[in-house]
Amino acid sequence: MKNKEFLSKLKSYFKKSDSSLLSSSINTLTDASIVDNKITLYISSNYALDILKGNIEDIKKISSVILGNPVYIELSYKDSSKAADYKKQSKEENNTDTSVKNENPKPSEIQPASSNSASNIQPNPQVPFLNSIYTLDNFIPGDNSRYAYNIAKAIAANPASEYNPFLIYSNVGLGKTHLAEAIGNRIVQTLKYKVTYVTCEYFINEFMKSIRTNTVEQYKNIYRNVDVLIIDDVQFLEGRGETQNALFNIFNSLKDSNKQMIFTSDRPVSAIKEFLPRLSTRLNSGVVADLQPPSFETKVAILKNKCIQKNINVDDNILFYISENIQSNVRDLEACLNRLIAFVKEMNEPLTLENSKKILKDLIFESKDKSNITMEKIIKAVADYFNISTSDIRGTKKSKSINEPRHIAFYLSYILTECSTTEIGIYFGNRDHSTILHSINKIKNNIKTDSVLNETVTILSNIIKSES
Ligand code: ADP
Ligand code: MG
Repeated sequence: MKNKEFLSKLKSYFKKSDSSLLSSSINTLTDASIVDNKITLYISSNYALDILKGNIEDIKKISSVILGNPVYIELSYKDSSKAADYKKQSKEENNTDTSVKNENPKPSEIQPASSNSASNIQPNPQVPFLNSIYTLDNFIPGDNSRYAYNIAKAIAANPASEYNPFLIYSNVGLGKTHLAEAIGNRIVQTLKYKVTYVTCEYFINEFMKSIRTNTVEQYKNIYRNVDVLIIDDVQFLEGRGETQNALFNIFNSLKDSNKQMIFTSDRPVSAIKEFLPRLSTRLNSGVVADLQPPSFETKVAILKNKCIQKNINVDDNILFYISENIQSNVRDLEACLNRLIAFVKEMNEPLTLENSKKILKDLIFESKDKSNITMEKIIKAVADYFNISTSDIRGTKKSKSINEPRHIAFYLSYILTECSTTEIGIYFGNRDHSTILHSINKIKNNIKTDSVLNETVTILSNIIKSES
């Protein structure tokens, strides 16, 4: 696909984004260059660059959809002299590369995690690709994550001894990828082991390719020849029997040769549908740790640490405000901070609680507003809107005309109330929390590309807020 065509598709995808700031930032992209699976996006505004950095995961996903394969994204200033300065400064601040990388380059583009100079990077399939930004030192453990963190440290010190495999599961944005990659980074740095990190999407795509090209055995051998294998988001294996089988074989080989394996999932493996029981047993056979949403204190500690990393001074009151109002997702906490950083860089105005509230208004729906919203009100609004009964929404009928409104009601209950997925599950006819979580994530993803759904959710959310 030509660069211009790609750029215009990317812009039109984001035109309907629920964040007008994001869509207008995407709109300021001036050019794109695509070399294999590496995309460089050029931009001429610092402010927009920061917004895009905060949304890099979404940009990566949509770009992968447009191009039909996993991609690696780099953001760069259009003005190259400025870009060089910015990169230098930012490198000093973060002690890391400012390019924002995705997790799954082709093996030929695999780069050493410990490289700190672009000129040192040689394509070499023998060395791992890991995002060096994720370290054990910059992971802040709280009561929600200390067990997983301690296991991670133990594995990093002694791979394949006590805790193998290690399975981390949690809702999105709670640090699974961070922790899994941090283990890999530490092992590379201290033990110089061969660590392979892949997203499950990449693992699946490469497997499908190997079937087409009749190279399945070579494919499996790549993974059999590592010291540490990390596969992120194994829930994407749902319903993919053949790929599950391949992983089962790889697992057995690695286990036999006493190699460390680490997996992450957005739910317990037993809750992944259409999943080979024998693979499920294998993945659960070592240590399993879940990450819970952080407490208020942990959120503040994470934010303070991010402020140090990003070299920005933010008043405690503002950090408290963010921590009080971002309920459960560390990625969202970080998105708030990125917004504030962009403001400070561009506006040359002091950051006060007052202007922070304005800057963050589309990211934060204050919890005091949530206290008036009940699931009963949500169900009624959704039922009225779709002209179905409230008992249909809480019941078990599976027709499409009821299923979608039901999923929307789960989603709205999650974002508009303080209720956990467990509480929502109980209210909606004793459903399991993982089912609720799965539906919420589905709506969350679909609203990014389905404009009708996006509009429906926005309208309903406004109705519910205005009636509460
Ligand atoms: P997940 O893989 O569970 O969706 P990520 O690992 O991508 O979540 O985390 C989302 C963001 O939040 C990342 O930028 C990560 O560095 C940050 N993060 C999550 N948990 C922590 C933590 N305990 N300490 C510091 N940063 C964290
Ligand atoms: Mg992740």
